[in-house]
Amino acid sequence: AKSAGGNRFELADPEADARAITRHGLTTALPTALDRGEFFIEYQPLVHLGDGSVRGAEALVRWLHPQHGVLGPDRFIPLAEHTGLIVPLGRWVLEQSVRQAREWRELHGGVEAVGPLRINVNLSPCQLTHPGLVQDTVDILERAGVAPDALCLEVTESALIGADDDLLKPLRRLAEMGVDIALDDFGTGYSNLANLRRLPVSVLKLDRSFTQSMQQFPADPVDLKIVEGIVSLAHSLDLAVTVEGVETGAQAEQLRILGCDTAQGWYYARPGPPERLHELALVDATG
Ligand code: C2E
Ligand code: CA
Ligand code: CA
Ligand code: CA
Repeated sequence: AKSAGGNRFELADPEADARAITRHGLTTALPTALDRGEFFIEYQPLVHLGDGSVRGAEALVRWLHPQHGVLGPDRFIPLAEHTGLIVPLGRWVLEQSVRQAREWRELHGGVEAVGPLRINVNLSPCQLTHPGLVQDTVDILERAGVAPDALCLEVTESALIGADDDLLKPLRRLAEMGVDIALDDFGTGYSNLANLRRLPVSVLKLDRSFTQSMQQFPADPVDLKIVEGIVSLAHSLDLAVTVEGVETGAQAEQLRILGCDTAQGWYYARPGPPERLHELALVDATG
């Protein structure tokens, strides 16, 4: 790609070639993969830091490729975004996830104390600019009989940097209906903190890099101050704070002390099939 200075950077690199071939192959296979039902969703619990209860889950898409096996989203989401397939794929993920939320609710109305399990679904920037977003979301919720406030759409901070009103309008409409909007990977995008007020978000998802810096003991005092500052700013704006990538009990405890509300990570559970989430939530409800 870096061919500006002649062919200096284009020396034979068999691995890069193989990657390019795979990328090409995957891109061509994407549209049929959706028709053939090769995608599936894993769910990772979202846990309340105060009492440890499972409150919901994030939907994470995977591709069971007939030749390459299970591919993570980092392998194919960028390709799907590039080709536009992300719109039907994203709609499929939303529909599946919302139906799953409905099923969990039917399986255990028992978790009354914490309300129904909520579902978080990632949204690509291309989906944001797609004119059907609001109507599709309304239809999907209605068809499944799921209330809008059981759904949280995650949008990355970078997708909203410098966002104009046209881009924010659909998100505002969804927020008015009761859908939560989370700012994903928060803290990586250099966004203007004052800008937060302008965005229709109700949740900040603190990027994994912050969680990682809580690994050492004692944690870096500057990182502690930064997280503390973000949490107090978020709370003063009525935003909840979710932390991702929690891998140890020490991190969870540190983040709880810093005032974070909800956590997600391998410490609690890896992403897994929907039955697993159901089990976790149930164990939780019955002690
Ligand atoms: P993300 O939204 O930041 O999702 C969190 C990622 O962190 C997931 O990777 C999850 O498996 C991983 N993770 C969870 N807990 C831990 C932990 O304790 N430690 C570490 N090291 N990692 C952890 P995954 O599933 O590979 O997804 C990668 C990215 O792909 C997601 O990042 C999201 O941006 C995107 N993605 C996933 N599903 C969808 C989708 O349906 N639509 C769109 N547009 N993007 C998606
Ligand atoms: Ca996410
Ligand atoms: Ca994230
Ligand atoms: Ca991330």
